[in-house]
Amino acid sequence: MSEKPTGTNGKHTGALMDQELLACFRSNGQFVMCAHEKPDGDVLGSGFALGLALSAMGKDVVYFLDDEVPKNLQFLPNAERVQRTFDGVRDDGVFVFLDMSDQSRAGTALSWVPPERIVNIDHHLGNTRFGRWNYVLEAEAATGVLVLNIIAALGQTVSPDIATCLLTTLISDTGCFLYTNAKPNVLRLAAALVNVGANKDLITEQLYLTRTFSGQKVLGRTLDRAVLTDDGICYSVVSQALLEEFGATHEDLEDVVGALRAVDRCEVAALLKESPDGSYRLSLRSRGRFNVMKMAQRLSGGGHFRAAGATLPGPFEAAVSRMLEAVRAEMAAAYAV
Ligand code: 5GP
Ligand code: MN
Repeated sequence: MSEKPTGTNGKHTGALMDQELLACFRSNGQFVMCAHEKPDGDVLGSGFALGLALSAMGKDVVYFLDDEVPKNLQFLPNAERVQRTFDGVRDDGVFVFLDMSDQSRAGTALSWVPPERIVNIDHHLGNTRFGRWNYVLEAEAATGVLVLNIIAALGQTVSPDIATCLLTTLISDTGCFLYTNAKPNVLRLAAALVNVGANKDLITEQLYLTRTFSGQKVLGRTLDRAVLTDDGICYSVVSQALLEEFGATHEDLEDVVGALRAVDRCEVAALLKESPDGSYRLSLRSRGRFNVMKMAQRLSGGGHFRAAGATLPGPFEAAVSRMLEAVRAEMAAAYAV
């Protein structure tokens, strides 16, 4: 086993990195790292890792985020540098969209950015290739793997800070190596990142071993009111009223859908989270038989085979029936094959 993280260069998929992508990073002077809404460890770790490598090459780097950095990710190197405005962004700045299947996932603040200024780096199924430069490897466990490929191809060193950012992407998108996407190459890469200084204990403490008290209370209530259908759908809802009762936010709800999926007779878990505007964010998880990405697509969302999401209009009853309809339609289609 090599001791240094070297990247995959698309080895698993046969997709080679486009030389034009590397030329883009070499020849441009400024890069704006962009995250999707409700940023997670993969998108932020990827952005900070690539930003650190580009800074080491003497490039100007801006970290744009139309959101707060979640509390449990504030340990990431450079997290304090994120900005909500385009201050300092030049007319020739290149926007790097990370971990997004389409541009709308970036939210309205970035919808004005034209394709000719966009680098799209992603691992979701069904990525729409919305940039001028697109680097998409659907078989990889995290966008961070693609970022490492780029850093390696650019000949940059993986510093301890970069290693911590990249290990965060792997730990985040594999559920701390629990999910089936934690293949041997991912485990090997994680070991190589720890070997060059990634702070694994800090990451796992922040991402998996620390929870707010209010979040745990909401988890308890949400499990208490969960429904398990005869056809293996386990679903529940978190209302704004429940969040307000405990002073919790959507950020506190990361474990809930996983706890629904863990139910032994559950094939598909669904969590509806009410937003302040009365719409519902839907999180879907699969035990492995059904493709929840296809269910989410029926609801104008997307994601991966085992984890996907969408936004549904309220009221609650309508959101639940649309969700059940989409889940059951896809189950029926899968049985028909
Ligand atoms: P989560 O349930 O954790 O919010 O999302 C699970 C997965 O589905 C993530 O990979 C996320 O990128 C994707 N996802 C969640 N919501 C949406 C959505 O509205 N549209 C698309 N295209 N993907 C989504
Ligand atoms: Mn990801």
